[in-house]
Amino acid sequence: MPIRVLSDELASRIAAGEVIERPASVVKELVENSLDAESTRVDVLIVEGGAKSITVIDNGQGIPAEQLPIAFERFATSKIDESSDLISIGTLGFRGEALPSIGSVARVEAISKCCGQEIGVRYVVDCGIAGIVEPAAVPQGTRIQVSGLFTNVPARLKFLGSANRELSRIHKILASFALIYPDVAFTLSADGRERFRTEGSGNLIDAVSGIYGAKIAEQMLQVELDDTAMFSVDGLVSSPSLTRSNRTYMTLAVNGRGIQSRRLTYAIEQAYHGFLPARRFPLVIARIRTPLDDVDANVHPAKAEVRFLREDLVYSVVQRAIRGVISVSSPVHRLG
Ligand code: ADP
Ligand code: MG
Repeated sequence: MPIRVLSDELASRIAAGEVIERPASVVKELVENSLDAESTRVDVLIVEGGAKSITVIDNGQGIPAEQLPIAFERFATSKIDESSDLISIGTLGFRGEALPSIGSVARVEAISKCCGQEIGVRYVVDCGIAGIVEPAAVPQGTRIQVSGLFTNVPARLKFLGSANRELSRIHKILASFALIYPDVAFTLSADGRERFRTEGSGNLIDAVSGIYGAKIAEQMLQVELDDTAMFSVDGLVSSPSLTRSNRTYMTLAVNGRGIQSRRLTYAIEQAYHGFLPARRFPLVIARIRTPLDDVDANVHPAKAEVRFLREDLVYSVVQRAIRGVISVSSPVHRLG
């Protein structure tokens, strides 16, 4: 589909809010775009926690030269059209807000070459001021560099944490993409040093190994996807002998979208009930699949939460699948 601006009517039904709060939100939005463009490689380069610069390079479909400026208009998207009910959304993005939001609070240089085009293009938007579209000899895909984030919004700049703190947020977001998309090769580099790399082999164990290390990958148990079920879950969960002191090692996704959900987290902890000591938590990568029209992704400005139409069903499918795997694997570990 070409990139088009949505009508005011449809745009007004889009969950509004501040999309770009910090460097990690820029990374999240740009990587979502790379994944929607069917990239198989995504490289993220960070300087000074992202405050100085954030670069995301992909090998995806690219943006056609004449459409690049449109991509920076508010509510301009190629992912939905006027017929959309804002449910049944199969892409990570759909609201056309990311590029204009980032372009209004930083200097953004976009370089892209679309499949089938001879030469690529370069376009710069500097704190809301658009430049011209120039030809550029570049490889297939898109490279977006965001520099000087929030230099024109001192109030928001003030709320950024230290470079290390912002980098750790970026690390967490990108790691969760890498775990949800094991078929995509990701790298994260910060201040010239590589922080992690996944191979994009398609095997989730390899992705876990890239993010958490080979030792942890070895101790994970497989949750098999039931292809025939309408609601299903696959992924890897830690055996009860491998635990963590907090919940940050739980990665949850619904139809390819990473989500945060206290209730789902609780359902998973319940699956481990009786297997883990008090105040210890599992490592979990749970990729849930539901019919697209069973989830509403348009409820949270940063799309971090979704609404399930049949919430209890989803929780019980996940809980049963995980419980099944851990109880078969380790009857001897059962506590009390
Ligand atoms: P949305 O993702 O909600 O459509 P964005 O503002 O993030 O809105 O992007 C606007 C449009 O620009 C997208 O719909 C897509 O057509 C195009 N686009 C952005 N980033 C990329 C990319 N990395 N590769 C290919 N196309 C892209
Ligand atoms: Mg987007």
